[in-house]
Amino acid sequence: MRSILVTGGAGFLGSHLCDRLLERGDNVICLDNFFTGRKQNILHLIGNPRFELLRHDIVEPIVLEIDQVYNLACPASPVAYQFNPIKTIKTSTVGVVNLLGLAKRCKARILHCSTSEVYGDPTVHPQSEEYWGNVNPIGPRSCYDEGKRVAESLCVNYHQEHQLQVRIIRIFNTYGPRMDPNDGRVISNFIMQALRGEPLTIYGDGTQTRSFCYCDDLIRGMMLLMDQDQTIGPINVGNPGEYSMLELAQEVLRAIPESKSTIKHVPLPTDDPKQRCPDITKAKSILGWSPTVDLRTGLAKTIEYYRSELA
Ligand code: NAD
Ligand code: UDP
Repeated sequence: MRSILVTGGAGFLGSHLCDRLLERGDNVICLDNFFTGRKQNILHLIGNPRFELLRHDIVEPIVLEIDQVYNLACPASPVAYQFNPIKTIKTSTVGVVNLLGLAKRCKARILHCSTSEVYGDPTVHPQSEEYWGNVNPIGPRSCYDEGKRVAESLCVNYHQEHQLQVRIIRIFNTYGPRMDPNDGRVISNFIMQALRGEPLTIYGDGTQTRSFCYCDDLIRGMMLLMDQDQTIGPINVGNPGEYSMLELAQEVLRAIPESKSTIKHVPLPTDDPKQRCPDITKAKSILGWSPTVDLRTGLAKTIEYYRSELA
């Protein structure tokens, strides 16, 4: 039986990954420092003899015996990653070096979670893996964006220098149940605001776009990437369905018809990317992956989760 380390395993995506790995029979070591992770995301796994929970910070080295590493440890919401920017950079640099070193010693395969943020405020649309990006190196998002860019470079160099089997997934905005209702990302904000009857906060004029992937689709793509046999360059995984924030607000209000919420415009954060949409040609051809859950279906499932959280 394989032993799989999931860092950031108590977070939104990490907890879904732990579920899927356990379902197919793997042993899972879930490691988390609980900065943005929540015990309730993994409570149902406590007591499973194939599940182990470690409170640890990847910025500190760790010695474990494992066959595979999925590195999800890193705050993902702009509010969370800007709370302590230097810590965010350490997580994506020192932390990633620690995990690459662990994988090297164990001869383990490692999948690193990168992000569409490596494309910054893109001047090419949609974004394919060949695009180098447009990131402000000293702006408020740089602790996350540049950290993730260094992490990709580290992975590629460990592969070249040490023949480490690395996989890099560039995740585009992903949502679903277990996303922290208070983490500040747009889908959790809009749904919680709509359920509470508060105005939906649109940053700027709301014409900026994002492409939203449902968590189950994303995790399926992540596991396919880990399990295919080549070390290849980074791969975009996301849903190409592209929406402006105004359209997203309308979709959320449509899905919660009893909501009395209005829309309120507030200032646009510095360096907020104007458009984002994945080119998933590679994911389709190399992994045979494409998303199956559309925004309406995914929103309905997510709203159901937040309703139960509020109850
Ligand atoms: P999340 O904040 O819910 O999960 C991150 C987890 O990592 C949390 O449990 C947190 O406590 C843990 N963590 C943070 N720093 C750590 C450290 N130094 N040591 C140990 N644990 C640490 O966010 P998520 O949406 O589940 O994101 C998971 C991964 O996917 C992140 O690496 C993120 O950058 C990447 N990603 C997510 C999205 C998305 O839309 N959800 C998009 C692009 C990339
Ligand atoms: N956004 C918004 N209202 C909110 C939260 C976010 O209009 O309450 C916007 C934000 O400005 C950005 C988009 O929604 O243009 C996605 O933001 P999020 O923080 O979810 O992710 P990211 O900017 O990292 O893609």
